[in-house]
Amino acid sequence: MRIHSKSLQKEETDLVRQIQKAAVIGSGVMGSGIAAHLANIGIPSILLDIVPKELSEQEKAKGLSLEDKAVRNRLSASAIQKLFKQKPAPLSTKENAALIESGNLEDDLSRLNEADWIIEVVVENLDVKKKVFEQVEQYRKEGSIVSSNTSGISIEAMVEGRSEEFKKNFLGTHFFNPPRYLKLLEVIPTSHTDEKIVNFMKEFGEDTLGKGVVLAKDTPNFIANRIGTYGLLVTVQEMLKGSYSVGEVDSVTGPLIGRPKSATFRTLDVVGLDTFIHVAKNVYDQVEGEEKNVFDVPDFMLQMRDKGWLGSKSGQGFFRKEGKTILELNPSSMEYQERGKLRAPSLEIAKQEKGLNNKMKALVYAQDRAGELLWSILSPVLLYSARLHGEIADDIVSIDRAMKWGFGWEKGPFETWDAIGIERSVSRMKEEGHAVPEWIEEMLAQGHTAFYKEEGDLFYYHNGSYKLVEENEKAINLKRWKKKNGVIKKNTGASLIDLGDGAALLEFHSPSNAIGMDIIQMINFAVDEVSKNYKGLVIGNQGKNFCVGANLGMILMEAQDDNVFEIEMVVKQFQQAMMRLKYSPFPVVAAPFGMTLGGGAEVCLPADHIQASPETYMGLVEVGVGLIPGGGGNKELYLNYLNSLPKGVEFDLQKVANTVFEMIAMAKVSTSGAEARDNHFLTSADAISSNGDHLLYDAKQAVLHLAQNYAAPIKRKVPVVGETGYATLLLGAQTMYHSGFISEHDLKIARKLAYVIAGGKVPFGTEVDEEYLLKLEREAFLSLVQEPKSQMRMQHMLVKGKPLRN
Ligand code: NAD
Repeated sequence: MRIHSKSLQKEETDLVRQIQKAAVIGSGVMGSGIAAHLANIGIPSILLDIVPKELSEQEKAKGLSLEDKAVRNRLSASAIQKLFKQKPAPLSTKENAALIESGNLEDDLSRLNEADWIIEVVVENLDVKKKVFEQVEQYRKEGSIVSSNTSGISIEAMVEGRSEEFKKNFLGTHFFNPPRYLKLLEVIPTSHTDEKIVNFMKEFGEDTLGKGVVLAKDTPNFIANRIGTYGLLVTVQEMLKGSYSVGEVDSVTGPLIGRPKSATFRTLDVVGLDTFIHVAKNVYDQVEGEEKNVFDVPDFMLQMRDKGWLGSKSGQGFFRKEGKTILELNPSSMEYQERGKLRAPSLEIAKQEKGLNNKMKALVYAQDRAGELLWSILSPVLLYSARLHGEIADDIVSIDRAMKWGFGWEKGPFETWDAIGIERSVSRMKEEGHAVPEWIEEMLAQGHTAFYKEEGDLFYYHNGSYKLVEENEKAINLKRWKKKNGVIKKNTGASLIDLGDGAALLEFHSPSNAIGMDIIQMINFAVDEVSKNYKGLVIGNQGKNFCVGANLGMILMEAQDDNVFEIEMVVKQFQQAMMRLKYSPFPVVAAPFGMTLGGGAEVCLPADHIQASPETYMGLVEVGVGLIPGGGGNKELYLNYLNSLPKGVEFDLQKVANTVFEMIAMAKVSTSGAEARDNHFLTSADAISSNGDHLLYDAKQAVLHLAQNYAAPIKRKVPVVGETGYATLLLGAQTMYHSGFISEHDLKIARKLAYVIAGGKVPFGTEVDEEYLLKLEREAFLSLVQEPKSQMRMQHMLVKGKPLRN
């Protein structure tokens, strides 16, 4: 039923365009972040900035002159260096920085003709931007795409004076900060932009840049910053009116209503008050009436800016940290005070409610301080979004997506409105004297009481009509897929689903997707079922994280009851299930994303192919809870590394064992899919999707491709380092223990781990079979699980959510 934007675009554009190289002009926060994101997906770029007018002290000390390249490229070169230190990391692996070349806007302008895409990311000033484009026009090659990353300046105004050819290839491409992590890319065409370029940018943005693309109109601050800034300012004004405190507001405007943890004021502290005021002023200058009043930044915030209380970057803003205590600003006294937290009966009721829709309903209509605050800040944003519909975007879907992908809201304004009920809210808005946009009155008069219908497949367009929500065909929505196609089998922890075309999907859906007996049973069922009726199996899901590990609560409970036999059975079954996946007569593709820890990583390792998300945080972290991997992970990681070595070339087996030992002993977790490959969790044959939302689609294609010519792997013996290698493995751990870096219990775990990785008491180079290694792993696991200190570690992790060092 759904229209796939991809197929539509394909018809409209015959353009086969590849961005082989890019130029990024402006190497500040955003420019360097965009260059890093391009490097992460393999696109080389040249990063240009202005030439410094004065030497720095360091440059003087080195005897450099203003003519030296090192000085002339200083801004962009130092921006590249800063990428290594920033958190969260803009680069998915440090090596990617090699794809970014530094340069300057005087000596390297002629190199703009190397670029297929030139993106301007200089200061937010129309005149500066126009001058940059004047220069770009002189040097770019015909047909190259030129875009601006402006937060809100008119795109049309930027191309004034440029040639027709330039204008045709020019548009706005608005990334959000930080570009690697925030999903939204607003694409803003002008009246001159060639439609093929717009379509190309949409497709390239989704398929290659891995973003969620929203088409925005060329209006002040486009979509997300217009509504987002309005919402933040309304919140500030309502806080002042209702005498709420900064901390009180933050305690109810975060996850409770489906917004990020940083809620209202911590978000402002992260963004920086100077930037925020600048963005707000851009709208203030261009609108009139009531709207202008909202964008008139309250005086106390201007005072904060003047005092330099800009937020995180200046050490204090709405909040200030003193030692371990966080204080909040009191806007009346301009002094910091103890952080407040709103307390109201509706908050308790909302906590009991299941699902965001019910929680929101319980909150916004409540007649207490929390309810009144939330109604007074949410309802204006809903009305404002409705008033701007048509002006900033053609449909409500774009507005909802922009707020979700750019501001991290769980629901966009129209989805929120559906959640709290349109009729009830509209009647209250009217009672309170607010004007409700005519199109909404019309919609209600025609009997339509929701913006979205059919599980979100249809959205309200206009004149009583609904339209299909366009989706990229690669963005499979599992929830909807299951609603339409059902499941083959389901238990409490997992489901087996028909993904179409002969592919089956094993989906985990236990709490945190932790692996327990229910999932192991479903793995076994999946192997039987797929052997008979399918071409291959994908293991994937669309939860918050792929899988955080084994069900620790269950293991701890059995351990505390001394049920060693039960634990041994579970471990054995887990190991056997992994072996079945590995040697099944059909291909298995694992599709990890987000946290893929412990047992989660162990499920991926035996697969024939891993199709990982760019954001995959993968590691065998069991030592943190006093254990070692128990589902074959030790052996599989070792084999992954071993198999990655070129055949027929002599290699150092001890080095393989050392690396794997270190990786597990230090519970190393990758900070990206690319780093998971560096850590040997992925091999060179495994793949990383450009867009995390396309993961299941890509995994399905991979499994079908493998199925064309599939032969199950042959069981081979594994060479191990044995007794002598064991001693070598332990050397480092012993030194660390004697120097006081690790505890006695850490050393005990290290010994057990080393024994497993070394393959026990056999001579160096002995070839052992996998079952033998699994037995060693099981024995080590079982002895550790009975250790009181390991049980304390498990308990601590379950209660506090972080590892205990004992
Ligand atoms: P920034 O101040 O960190 O960087 C701006 C860069 O422009 C600097 O490297 C500076 O040297 C360079 N520059 C200054 N004058 C110049 C000139 N005359 N010619 C050429 N270059 C010059 O700013 P930023 O935050 O990276 O923002 C850059 C652009 O991206 C702005 O248009 C901004 O609105 C937009 N933007 C920013 C964010 C954000 O969160 N910071 C988010 C989205 C979009």
